[in-house]
Amino acid sequence: MKYLSTRGDRTLRGFSDILLEGLAPDGGLYLPTHYPRVDDATLTRWRGLAYADLAFEILSLYIDDIPAPDLKRLCHATYTAATFGSEAIVPLKPLEDGVYLQALSNGPTLAFKDMAMQLLGQLFEYELGRRGEEINILGATSGDTGSAAEYAMRGKHGVRVFMLSPHGRMSPFQQAQMFSLQDANIHNIAIEGVFDDCQDIVKAVSNDLDFKRRHKIGTVNSINWARLLAQVVYYFAGYFQATKTNDQTVSFAVPSGNFGNICAGHVARCMGLPIHRLVLATNENDVLDEFFRTGTYRVRGSSETFETSSPSMDISKASNFERFVFDLLGRNGARTAELFGPKLAKEGGFSLTPAEFEPVASFGFVSGKSTHADRLATIRDTWQRFGMMIDTHTADGLKVARRFVRPGVPMLVLETALPAKFAATIQEALGREPERPAALQGIESLPRRFTVMPVDAAAVMRYIETHCH
Ligand SMILES: *Cc1c(COP(=O)(O)O)cnc(C)c1O
Repeated sequence: MKYLSTRGDRTLRGFSDILLEGLAPDGGLYLPTHYPRVDDATLTRWRGLAYADLAFEILSLYIDDIPAPDLKRLCHATYTAATFGSEAIVPLKPLEDGVYLQALSNGPTLAFKDMAMQLLGQLFEYELGRRGEEINILGATSGDTGSAAEYAMRGKHGVRVFMLSPHGRMSPFQQAQMFSLQDANIHNIAIEGVFDDCQDIVKAVSNDLDFKRRHKIGTVNSINWARLLAQVVYYFAGYFQATKTNDQTVSFAVPSGNFGNICAGHVARCMGLPIHRLVLATNENDVLDEFFRTGTYRVRGSSETFETSSPSMDISKASNFERFVFDLLGRNGARTAELFGPKLAKEGGFSLTPAEFEPVASFGFVSGKSTHADRLATIRDTWQRFGMMIDTHTADGLKVARRFVRPGVPMLVLETALPAKFAATIQEALGREPERPAALQGIESLPRRFTVMPVDAAAVMRYIETHCH
């Protein structure tokens, strides 16, 4: 399997070439040259597999430059009951008839990002070891992504993490989660500013190409193809749990922000997994819902980007969305480049022509939006009727999913986080503290390891310089 760019650069690269990279040189995102079709006999064979073996089978279709025994070992090292809480890894939890939650958040940081990031940690260590190279991962986080990256990379050879976060602005739980890590290769830098200041510093450092090259600076952001690929696996695993035979279809509802999670569902569907609908749910930041209703993609400015109670979906633009548009346009790289290139920054959006937008239905997408009031009502209702406590993002997914439930088609709502991470909104909805997994009781009182720094890119660069060897 080879990879190309969504913006028309057809230089073909192998999986290992793009694993450690971000954007393609032409500014596009990497995609495989095609999505391998999975036939009926293969689906039947995969039905009985353990999660790690299923992951190996699916990854093998896209990775041909890592020897099979090595790839299998990495999958088995990643997807264990010890890390993800159960042998099923992504078990289904039934709600009302035909509606399920698919649990993706039982990993170390209680959010679905662990599903991909834990594998990425294994792949990075393997590939860097094979090349005799090292990488210094630099990132900015307001919570979920940074902690998932740190828990995936802790103790990994050849990898160091420098994670910037806004000092004192993450939830007490998230601070405890990240700052209690004592691993020598994890560096928490608390910046005396807001999240945007952290992001600006990352940009400033990355724009210093000489510094970037000398200190082998890399990222693990959501556009990484390996992350997306790892997420394809749980769509198959969910399908197999909800059905008995391959003539059945299911729908998935996905709380969405940067379009990474649901893009993996799109890939699974293109591979032939019998998915009826991909239900995209947004919060008040509804840039994607607007697109799927109208064909217009309108990036929001910062004054139009709301801080909501499902904060991991508070996006102004969706970084993975270009991948879907490329497929929607029949993989027309020139047109994709025209839409997502400089014009997007200048004009703040684009509208597809009716002919371009029309095939959207054949890709299975439908969408809807959920508000703070919907979120509270859904959390309350799920607690009262099913005795189950759900987080705010999952509540958005469930709220929108119910509009699209059809008899005979199981609806799988992806549970993207556990309520323990969002205590304030759970208190508001239920008047009680969220449940917390036993392993995370009392993490607030563990010793912390972090460095406070001013909003100063040069100071951060000096810190990296002295700690990157
Ligand atoms: C990251 C995240 C999302 C959004 O996922 P995307 O892949 O960006 O669409 C939703 N819920 C939670 C809890 C997350 O951490």
